[in-house]
Amino acid sequence: MVALRRSLKGCHMNDDTSGSSSSAVIRLAEVTKRYSGDGQSALSQVHLDVTAGEALAVMGPSGSGKSTLLNLVAGLDRPTSGTVTVAGQRIDKLSETGLARFRRRQIGMIFQFFNLLDDLTVEDNILLPAQLAGLRRGAALARARELLATLRIERHRNAYPGRLSGGERQRVAIARALVNRPALLLADEPTGALDTATGEEIGELLRGLNAAGQTLVLVTHNPDLAACYASRTVRLVDGRLASDRLAGSAAGGAAAAGGAHVRFAGGTGAGVPR
Ligand code: ADP
Ligand code: MG
Repeated sequence: MVALRRSLKGCHMNDDTSGSSSSAVIRLAEVTKRYSGDGQSALSQVHLDVTAGEALAVMGPSGSGKSTLLNLVAGLDRPTSGTVTVAGQRIDKLSETGLARFRRRQIGMIFQFFNLLDDLTVEDNILLPAQLAGLRRGAALARARELLATLRIERHRNAYPGRLSGGERQRVAIARALVNRPALLLADEPTGALDTATGEEIGELLRGLNAAGQTLVLVTHNPDLAACYASRTVRLVDGRLASDRLAGSAAGGAAAAGGAHVRFAGGTGAGVPR
């Protein structure tokens, strides 16, 4: 952590503030979530709008509701009360089938421990969501190859995830998350299981994706990661939104990128074509 703080000291966000769009891709209104009838609320009366193109970091202590919030946005769970609108759809109203379709089309998600299927090759892990979404094999394969190349994991195409390093596994998970060109990339502690340098690489990748127009919500414990790779940070305390800050001059900067830039910020070579 200390090393990360030191090495990221000079980081800065894209500060292009021109042309920001105001279309909310996520809108939570008065969202409360209780896991049991008489229990405490994991989230209380949360209001949150996220604009297309933003890179939002969600911070807060353990148990403050970060994962709950992400899961509600992903359609993995439903609020106890309030509304969740994502990409124009009231997802708290969708049937289970509707939610499954919504998740396949609109949501890419990555996790601390990658959640890859160990008995599928790297390429088959990436192809799986495309197959589930009914994409033609040829088109899916072309998309997977494009992502393998961009994320620089091409040479591991036929390997099994168990043979890869943590950073490589997270790249595979990112490719899998992006294969269906989701409206939202959601990341729950994506660098939590990685060493400092690898965590930074993944942070740079996420920043590059955002600069290429990908809307991103990043749950992290790491203030450096939030400061360097997000354009806005919200903080949850006991299930309530305690603060909401734009990153310095980067206010709306990532939103402004809006697909115009397709280059990574950190020397990773090329953007992921959408
Ligand atoms: P964070 O991700 O910030 O650590 P969570 O969203 O996982 O926090 O949890 C918020 C609160 O909700 C915690 O008190 C946690 O114990 C509780 N919680 C989370 N998931 C469940 C669940 N599936 N069933 C019951 N309680 C849960
Ligand atoms: Mg969590």
